[in-house]
Amino acid sequence: MRFTTESRFLTMGKKKKLKKVILACGECSERNYSTPKTQNQATERLELNKYCPRCANHTLHKETR
Ligand SMILES: [Zn+2]
Repeated sequence: MRFTTESRFLTMGKKKKLKKVILACGECSERNYSTPKTQNQATERLELNKYCPRCANHTLHKETR
């Protein structure tokens, strides 16, 4: 039981700050989504296939700054 508590505490201590990024449609540049980004994703730019209401279609959404 004690081991469980300690390992949970360690996990919480390792939790890193999540940076929020905005995902914009690659077709019309509409900013449709925001998502938290973890540290180990920070080096690569997020690209997700999401629904864009403006295009009324699924398009590739890219991270904007
Ligand atoms: Zn769009």
